Amino acid sequence: MATSDSSNAKTGATESPVLAGMMPFNAPAAYAGGALDAGEPDGASLCFVFQQTLLLVAEETAGAQLPAQEKLPNLGTAPLRRLYLGTLGERACYAFEYGADTQAPPGLLWQGLRTLYTRLDDDLFALAGRALQYIDWDRTHEFCGRCGTPTRHRANERARECPACNLVVYPRIAPAVMCLIRRGRDILLARSPRFPPGMYSALAGFVEPGESLEQCLAREVLEETGVRIANARYFASQPWPFPHSLMIAYIADYAGGDITPAPDEIEDAQWFSIDALPKLPNRISIARRLIDAAVAEMRAAHS
Ligand SMILES: [Zn+2]
Repeated sequence: MATSDSSNAKTGATESPVLAGMMPFNAPAAYAGGALDAGEPDGASLCFVFQQTLLLVAEETAGAQLPAQEKLPNLGTAPLRRLYLGTLGERACYAFEYGADTQAPPGLLWQGLRTLYTRLDDDLFALAGRALQYIDWDRTHEFCGRCGTPTRHRANERARECPACNLVVYPRIAPAVMCLIRRGRDILLARSPRFPPGMYSALAGFVEPGESLEQCLAREVLEETGVRIANARYFASQPWPFPHSLMIAYIADYAGGDITPAPDEIEDAQWFSIDALPKLPNRISIARRLIDAAVAEMRAAHS
């Protein structure tokens, strides 16, 4: 439930169904971005070291820690890339990518980012998500998408440009909408074939070129379930670094139609009473925050 949100407990903030600013992966308040390389990292720098999608951490009883900069030579090889990320408070932040076969030195290990949620400090977790996206973008745009020439970093901003045809590429994000549909004391939840057994979530889909968020919402819901919606209200958004989405979540009211799950995409979709909900996604995702907030609001309205 939204009332048990740990971020609220930490800050003493007033309970609100809108949890914007407290979502995992949202930019930390003390973070200032920057693309200009601030030189070599030093002992105070925060090093986000990746091998593909795995982050190098030290697992300690108190939680996971980033590796000290002094430990990086122990990887025994040079990084494939190093990107300056900006600062967190006074500390410079760097993202590194190492090759796929790089062994973790003693005391450190490669871990998937999702498994580090709540194990790694929230601010560092958010910046790790950002680092992962910048690395992925940088790796994917080493060559010009238009003419195939090797690209180079622009000096004054986070972009890669082609010296042959002048194409400039900035980090990309893919907007996706999410919708939780209410009907009386019920909410519409669905499951994709790739979900863990028994888990249901809100509907979601990527925005297509040429449509608004609201149009995407109506289209996705209709395509995936055959249901029509009304009164879509913005809830919150969340950067989602797997690999580069921005999730934009809404609560909407049921306006008609019978549930007809889209073959291949939706394994099952049902109306669930807010008093008998199925297994839900982890609180790392906006989906769970959305469902919790809507359920809390509906309970309050029906009590
Ligand atoms: Zn080019």
